[in-house]
Amino acid sequence: MDAEKYSRSITLLCPTCGSTDLTDQGADDGAQIAVCSSCGLEINKDDLISENSENIAAHVKEIGQEISRDFAAEIRKSLREAWGGSKYFKVK
Ligand SMILES: [Zn+2]
Repeated sequence: MDAEKYSRSITLLCPTCGSTDLTDQGADDGAQIAVCSSCGLEINKDDLISENSENIAAHVKEIGQEISRDFAAEIRKSLREAWGGSKYFKVK
């Protein structure tokens, strides 16, 4: 698969209030924590990504029908690897 072709940014949303203003608060017991500056929700990155599965799935649908469902799993994997303090994640 030509990964570059499907490169895009996905904005993760706060699952509670829908804000995109999430701040990386660093690691806590091995899990990286994001804090929503709108409602104060603290959520670890794995939960955040899983809460955003629908959002991610919508992007996958947008990209095109030719992509297998496995690509959603690839994006989630990329998001985990790309995590690093930015609320925008470059997915390749
Ligand atoms: Zn929030």
